Amino acid sequence: MLTTVMGVVIAERNYGESDKFIDILTAEEGILEICVKGARKITGKNNSSTQLFAYSKFCIDRRNEKYYLNSSELIRVFYGIRTDIEKVALAEYLAEIAGYCVTSGQTAKDIMRLFLNSLHFISEDLRSCSFIKSVFEMRFLSEIGLLPQLIGCRDCYKYEAEEMFFMVDRCCLLCGEHFYGRGFEENEYHIRLTRSVLHALRFICLSEMEKLFNFKLGESSMKLLNEITEKYIVSRLHKEFKTLDFYKQICSDASTHEKETT
Ligand SMILES: [Zn+2]
Repeated sequence: MLTTVMGVVIAERNYGESDKFIDILTAEEGILEICVKGARKITGKNNSSTQLFAYSKFCIDRRNEKYYLNSSELIRVFYGIRTDIEKVALAEYLAEIAGYCVTSGQTAKDIMRLFLNSLHFISEDLRSCSFIKSVFEMRFLSEIGLLPQLIGCRDCYKYEAEEMFFMVDRCCLLCGEHFYGRGFEENEYHIRLTRSVLHALRFICLSEMEKLFNFKLGESSMKLLNEITEKYIVSRLHKEFKTLDFYKQICSDASTHEKETT
């Protein structure tokens, strides 16, 4: 039976002499694994539409619970991602998160939108990689039901106190009074927030999707936000992402290089 589905390629694996498998993220059916026959022949007619991060229309043949590509039509390729190794590394990390959490058969409309928007922002240089990374990490968790409690202090519901702490391990906020009152100490899982980072966290989790990237943050706040969102995703998903290690390696190499050349 032939069906048509729109999807974005989030992973590819070579198979046999000239075939490959691709995983595509779709709005209606989550992630689908599709076998692409003859994909690695230079003349393959589906080469561009089945490459990593291509957004395409796929006509697939379903046989015995397996999917085979019949034909495909490229809708959008995010060319800008390929121009920079940091961008490629980030896009691969976002794809690994999606691939790890989204299953086959589930609807993933908002996740797909978040993923495509993120690729667009990476490709077009509309925000820095660390900005897009933080927004994706936090919003993705919200979309899959792991939204932290950000309305106010967990104990007294204060919306904004002089001091506020994000409790990575408890998925909530505490005001200074209740943080110290309960004997907590600052550490990598109990993080002191600045006002702008608290606002950014709330914005990322609660704003409408079309406004998601519409905020600004200074460099030091960005660093703090990144620390929080990364800790939060790794601890909530109980997973070490290889692509995250690679992304961080690229960033640290880049900053060392920058220091050496200035
Ligand atoms: Zn409180």
